[in-house]
Amino acid sequence: MGVLWLLAIYGATFVLYAVLPGRWVEGYVCDAQGRPLRYHLNGLPVFAVVVGGYVALAATGMVAWDVFYVFRFEMLATAIGVGLVFTFAIVLPAPPTGKSLAAELFLGRYENPQRGRVDAKMFLYLVGAVTLELLLLSFAAHHVLLFTWAGSQGIVVYTGLFSFFLVEYLWFERVHLYTYDFVAERVGFKLGWGCLAFYPFFYCVGAWFTAGVADPDPSMLRLVAAVVVFFAGWSLARGANLQKFRFKTRPEATHFGPFAQTAIGDGTRRVLVGGLWGLSRHINYFGEILMASGLAIALAHLGAWLYPLYYVGLLVPRQLDDDRRCATKYGALWAEYQARVPARIIPKIW
Ligand code: NDP
Repeated sequence: MGVLWLLAIYGATFVLYAVLPGRWVEGYVCDAQGRPLRYHLNGLPVFAVVVGGYVALAATGMVAWDVFYVFRFEMLATAIGVGLVFTFAIVLPAPPTGKSLAAELFLGRYENPQRGRVDAKMFLYLVGAVTLELLLLSFAAHHVLLFTWAGSQGIVVYTGLFSFFLVEYLWFERVHLYTYDFVAERVGFKLGWGCLAFYPFFYCVGAWFTAGVADPDPSMLRLVAAVVVFFAGWSLARGANLQKFRFKTRPEATHFGPFAQTAIGDGTRRVLVGGLWGLSRHINYFGEILMASGLAIALAHLGAWLYPLYYVGLLVPRQLDDDRRCATKYGALWAEYQARVPARIIPKIW
């Protein structure tokens, strides 16, 4: 059954993504002729329909609330298999890039594959978010069924914060067209298998550890700390991403909220050095790590810290790589930014 459930989630998400109305926007990445790629954005309605479908089925007793917890291992195995099949299917028919086949399978060949309304990267991020939300809700439901609402405050706060994270990610879907994944990554195992298997099944690692065990410390202080750390991180990450988005899309604007859009350079070669981007060169990564830490605090289980730890492992090399990329792209301008803002991720520390 887990196989069928996962295929149904992937299938429903794909069909809804392809047919539900949305809005067309221009992205940041350009095609070979220098024209910006166009994207059809409808992530939030797709998410709402699939998650609403699960809630409706569970509320009417047609499926158990914890159905995806019950079938979690079968679903995980299926996701691993589908992710591998997807990798071969998207990489092998594409023209080689000159790297070894192993490197191409891992990193991909196509940069931004699109057909009609369907953009491979947008679909992959969407299906990952939808599957993750369904797992989170089902894992939390399992805990509530075992230990009641009163005994499940940690996982309920965790699921609420994580759901906020996913919904707001889709709300700001357009901003993500301006991120590293769209600019610098190709579609292979890393992105394809990553979004189909790793993202939905690993990001909720804390729930895997805790959905079946009683909360050891249902303290209000811990839950408040979780919410505060999470939203402190969210303010930094979302604030910085929006500030940069505004800087790229409305270069004439002098302010973003309370922050001056202070920049160095001229014309199309300008680097933002003010506001949140003056705190560290990747303050958004620091925000992301704080958000993940807030989620781990909510669960009070050592295993939940694998999630923030994963972000450290992902974002530290990514910062080093992006710094190299920007040094090549911006030259002396980037050296000036590095001198003005020496911290890479954590203000004043590193
Ligand atoms: P950034 O959004 O920081 O994008 C980096 C690019 O932005 C650079 O290559 C450069 O590109 C431009 N840039 C960087 N600094 C400046 C500056 N000071 N002024 C102007 N342009 C600048 O990184 P990511 O795309 O990696 O991350 C985006 C968000 O996604 C972050 O919040 C990150 O934490 C999050 N993320 C989330 C993940 C998750 O699994 N939840 C995974 C990975 C990332 P150019 O100049 O060419 O525009």
